[in-house]
Amino acid sequence: MIDVNGLIKDFGKTRVIDGINTTVSAGEVVVLIGASGSGKSTLLRCLNGLETLSAGEILIDSVPLERKSSRLMQIRRQVGMVFQQFNLFPHLTVLENIIEAPIHVLKQERNDAIRVARELLSKVGLSDKRDYYPATLSGGQGQRVAIARALAMHPKIMLFDEPTSALDPELVGEVLNVMKQLAEDGMTMIVVTHEMGFAREVADRVIFIDNGRIVEEGSPVQIFGNPQEKRTKAFLGRLR
Ligand code: ATP
Ligand code: MG
Repeated sequence: MIDVNGLIKDFGKTRVIDGINTTVSAGEVVVLIGASGSGKSTLLRCLNGLETLSAGEILIDSVPLERKSSRLMQIRRQVGMVFQQFNLFPHLTVLENIIEAPIHVLKQERNDAIRVARELLSKVGLSDKRDYYPATLSGGQGQRVAIARALAMHPKIMLFDEPTSALDPELVGEVLNVMKQLAEDGMTMIVVTHEMGFAREVADRVIFIDNGRIVEEGSPVQIFGNPQEKRTKAFLGRLR
């Protein structure tokens, strides 16, 4: 589903992604871990077409993600992204936030968009918050709306960049539960997170990145239980 071949990303003279090769299959859940500044967010931004690539290529269903291509917008719609700061439109209600892009970008009929939005709100457990404004939601509720909003575009892949790290600890679980449900429904997901419990339980594969390179990857049991590389051991050791 996603093929990353020889990906390099430089910011000026700084090489931030230094030759990443990997493949993510349909339905796979990949958790990306690594120290601050190791390139996790940059990699996700490349996968979502938000950055120009310095070298290498990214294929989504065998189609290259080319920034210049007129197909970029079409491909980007297939990739949903949820950030640490969920950036809901403050002047729109929860429902309006979710139907905005389906109506204006996908050109869905308003009634169809509302029907889908209601289903998604039920899925993330927020049917009762439909007419609320973002400022009146808790952080966990806001993040669940952000997930519903991304899903309303019918993405093939969902990227999550530390979706729970700005939340109070008691709100983390409700967001992780929605993500877990999404994984069980078969969504292809790449998740940057420090929630190792989630990684152990939900990830099919854990990738450890350091200095823009994949140092080690494997099942959660392998990576957490029996890491092979010195840098992986050091990183995991610091988390404990
Ligand atoms: P964190 O865990 O803190 O979120 P990260 O692994 O997501 O870190 P990135 O945000 O991808 O790391 O950043 C990797 C490196 O790239 C950092 O050194 C950062 O300063 C640099 N970088 C990121 N974006 C830019 C940019 N737009 N211009 C210049 N340098 C950048
Ligand atoms: Mg980051």
